[in-house]
Amino acid sequence: MTARIIDGKALAEDLSAKVAAAVQRLTQDHGLEPGLAVVLVGNNPASEIYVRSKSMKTVAAGMRSSMHKLPDTITEDELLQVVRQLNDDRATHGILVQLPLPPHIDPHKMIAAIDPAKDVDGFHPVNAGRLATGLPALVPCTPLGCIRLAKSVHPSLSGLAAVVIGRSNIVGKPLAQLLLAENATVTIAHSKTRDLPAVARRADLLFAAVGQAEMVKRDWIKPGATVIDVGINRVPGEGGKSRVVGDVAFAEAAEAAGAITPVPGGVGPMTIACLMLNTVRAACASAGLSPPDL
Ligand code: NDP
Repeated sequence: MTARIIDGKALAEDLSAKVAAAVQRLTQDHGLEPGLAVVLVGNNPASEIYVRSKSMKTVAAGMRSSMHKLPDTITEDELLQVVRQLNDDRATHGILVQLPLPPHIDPHKMIAAIDPAKDVDGFHPVNAGRLATGLPALVPCTPLGCIRLAKSVHPSLSGLAAVVIGRSNIVGKPLAQLLLAENATVTIAHSKTRDLPAVARRADLLFAAVGQAEMVKRDWIKPGATVIDVGINRVPGEGGKSRVVGDVAFAEAAEAAGAITPVPGGVGPMTIACLMLNTVRAACASAGLSPPDL
């Protein structure tokens, strides 16, 4: 079997175009220009690339982007002050504090300081609790993107056996909650799971969010399963350069799977498109408007 490749880039472009159209309508009909503020502390090169990409996509969607680049000498109190100012800024509908933060700043404290209504990363405990209890919430972008990718193969996930490898607060746990809400039968696996290959083989839908390069092998995959690879791992490549691979050994996994996301070009682009979607949703909620159905 050779798997269908799920084109995350194309699906993300499609979603971004819909978001841009919704932004245009909001601006024309309601004078509402959604605004996203991105806070970056320090000079982490990977974070700088992510943040630049997020800002460019925000502008491309017709939204207002503001960037707050701060030195890594900033104190926790000073950074909290920046977040509070953004909470109070009526032109800012979404706030994203790029992680990781320098070691002297507590990321939990920073996330908790963000107004939950502007928490477009969906990391605030209020949003995590709302998601877990089935209330409307701002949901983390990567899991949102994973669900959209899975639904591009299976319009209904109801009754499917889903295995999520990874239980982080930003990917594994919210993804499991979203899958439950879609009526999938969900197993969450992690580093203490016994016989992980056997657990993974039960999955109609297999999600790998681990951070271990090419860990998921061909014989972990039930023939025909849909595999969504969240991992981003840098490994040595040719000529002394590095390259990015996922948590799934793509070439061999594609021989067993029915459908599979590539890395890069799978979950990554969908994550950013979902950030745009969350910003529009937050802007609509702030104005008492129903969110666009995208
Ligand atoms: P974390 O490190 O926070 O969590 C990793 C999870 O994987 C943990 O639950 C851990 O288990 C589990 N795990 C680690 N090693 C093993 C193993 N050998 N067997 C089974 N489970 C294991 O990572 P994140 O959730 O933040 O990210 C996961 C991956 O996704 C990373 O590669 C990251 O770069 C990528 N990522 C990609 C995004 C995108 O936009 N495409 C966005 C966010 C993340 P335990 O809890 O027991 O320690």
